[in-house]
Amino acid sequence: MTELTSVKGIGQKTAEALSRLGISDMEDLLGFYPRDYETFSAPKQLWQLEAGKLETAQGVLVKDASMNYFNGMRIVNAYLSDMTGRLQLSWYNLPYIKNSLHTGVSYVFRGRVYEKNGRKIMYQPRVYAAEEYAGKYEGRLLPVYPLTKGVSSTLLRKAVFEALRTKPLRKDYLPEELRTRQGLAELNFAMEKIHFPENRETLLLARARLCFDEFFFFLLSAARLRKGREALVSAYRCRPDVRILSFIADLPFELTAAQQKAWREISADLSSGKVMNRLLEGDVGSGKTIVALLAMLLAALNGYQSVLMAPTEVLASQHYETVNALLNRSGLPLSAVLVTGSMTASQRRSAYARIEAHEADLIIGTHAVFQEKLVYDRLGLVVTDEQHRFGVAQRELLSQKGGEPHVLVMSATPIPRTLAIILYGELDISVLDRRPSGRQEIKNCVVGPSYRKTAYKFILDEVKKGRQAYIICPMIEKETQKDEASADGVYESLGNTAELENVKDYAKKLTSVFPPEITVSVLHGRMKAQKKEAVMTAFKEGRIQVLVSTTVVEVGVDVPNATVMMIENAERFGLAQLHQLRGRVGRGAHQSYCIMLNTSEGETAKKRLDILAASNDGFYIAGEDLKLRGPGDIFGIRQSGDLSFGLADIYNDAAILKKAKMEADRLLSSDPELLMEEHRALSEELGRRMSSAQSIL
Ligand code: ADP
Ligand code: MG
Repeated sequence: MTELTSVKGIGQKTAEALSRLGISDMEDLLGFYPRDYETFSAPKQLWQLEAGKLETAQGVLVKDASMNYFNGMRIVNAYLSDMTGRLQLSWYNLPYIKNSLHTGVSYVFRGRVYEKNGRKIMYQPRVYAAEEYAGKYEGRLLPVYPLTKGVSSTLLRKAVFEALRTKPLRKDYLPEELRTRQGLAELNFAMEKIHFPENRETLLLARARLCFDEFFFFLLSAARLRKGREALVSAYRCRPDVRILSFIADLPFELTAAQQKAWREISADLSSGKVMNRLLEGDVGSGKTIVALLAMLLAALNGYQSVLMAPTEVLASQHYETVNALLNRSGLPLSAVLVTGSMTASQRRSAYARIEAHEADLIIGTHAVFQEKLVYDRLGLVVTDEQHRFGVAQRELLSQKGGEPHVLVMSATPIPRTLAIILYGELDISVLDRRPSGRQEIKNCVVGPSYRKTAYKFILDEVKKGRQAYIICPMIEKETQKDEASADGVYESLGNTAELENVKDYAKKLTSVFPPEITVSVLHGRMKAQKKEAVMTAFKEGRIQVLVSTTVVEVGVDVPNATVMMIENAERFGLAQLHQLRGRVGRGAHQSYCIMLNTSEGETAKKRLDILAASNDGFYIAGEDLKLRGPGDIFGIRQSGDLSFGLADIYNDAAILKKAKMEADRLLSSDPELLMEEHRALSEELGRRMSSAQSIL
């Protein structure tokens, strides 16, 4: 571990800002990969410029730049021309630009192009002398990092550059023979080039190597964790219990054939005497929760505790309420308890005491269920909902608490079978391939901003019928774009988020759109857990009609009375994510609707959204989305949603995943414990990754 402040240019303040991005040492810094790259492409002729795009234009300045005042802002305007046309250039609050431009000189400008009254304007472009651009920039790629308050891409670029310069070279932990076989780049090379590639080819090489590592160590750690678990005799063998049958008979609905089949498989595992390792896979709304609950009940009736872990507090308390309601009506002598991070100290004490005394049979919570102080009594089953967000280390801790409990993993990620077998190689798989009947298919539409009014009217009509609606925005609040008085400040503003809808302003706007008797509320990730829960409860109970939210409602939230899902800036989301969001409606008997508002003029954006509009089937969508992208198309929106690797994406990088699987198998068959001297560095790297919070399983 190397202190960040030892990197030239990083002081205490920057180090603190970086720590908000989860970067606490030099290794973290180098592992903080760009989210995209700006390509310095060859300048275009002016007639070729397209509105809505980040473009590079070259031409001669026609006359001296002028300065105007508008709404308290200073605006500099200039005009560029070449043989094919003219382009207006416009800067706000960057007055110094005016005197740095000279009539008759040839420049290159990079910026976003807009169309206004049939004329093209480039806003806030960055300025280069033509020779400077051709000599120093053209063809290069510059990293763009995910941002946080107080850390600009420029700063990160400088810090990473400095770190790369000072850091001693590292011995590659992958055996050379393996690298040669798979055509993988060397580690130090890859680490440098992922940040500063000379060109696209180098970037692809670097990226392929790092993706390989992510998959490879994931597979090795999975193998290590599961090693020998199949052969274990379970200490928590569950005998069948007739009370489960009457519980099923008393449910307000009948189990689907798929649910019954999954339940047969699970109950067979639990009573087999072996340790269960099973994945329960099913598209959103396929009814996984009830199947998991049956498993928990069977364990409880056999005297064992069980844990259900959810990725968010909202989801955990929702599960808790569902379970409680079902337990109460069943009359079974069992009780459930909720464990979350936001409980008060006294709530926590009492929950822990009830668990330790085995007064609670079903424990439902977030990662707080891993708390070291929490002592279980005969923990026989661990269920994870959308499990991938939990770290390997956490999961291992939990298994240690229970001495090899049964494990049931629920996932809604539509992973093609071939990939699922690789990723979950040692898990048995149950699939819920049908949704409960009596549901109507969700009706979808993709529309432009001009449709907004109609959409509001439509939502109003649904609300009058007693239904509820979600509206999703990509941002929480308006990002105030600081204009640093530097050329890089201009550069930063190219990836503009200012035009994106944000939850806070949107909700304010809606209160004047809808009549006062309609309650509009907001939900987002920066709210306190208790506040979030209060909002979700109110929405569930129908006291809120329209919920304006970020994607925090994406995973698992179940409000069957909600029938409209409207998504602003839909093109900004991954298809898998949109599919998850849409899965929040269509959960009850009423006809439901998904309105995707596309604010981009791009062709691909439209094509992608049309895939979603045409189908409600998660597997189909994942497949079609993949077809739309070429193999070199690596920086599209991430697809795998909850299965999050750092760089790699299971869909886009399926070929690399297969290679990693081959190599992991090969390695483990020759040296299962990684004890050979030549694998020592590899084994250490595995240990490091397994204990870091970033690893996933
Ligand atoms: P997911 O698989 O997305 O987690 P849930 O378990 O939340 O889905 O179930 C979605 C909704 O369907 C819930 O309201 C649940 O009560 C209901 N449900 C589950 N199984 C059935 C069924 N067999 N028939 C009707 N409704 C069901
Ligand atoms: Mg769910």
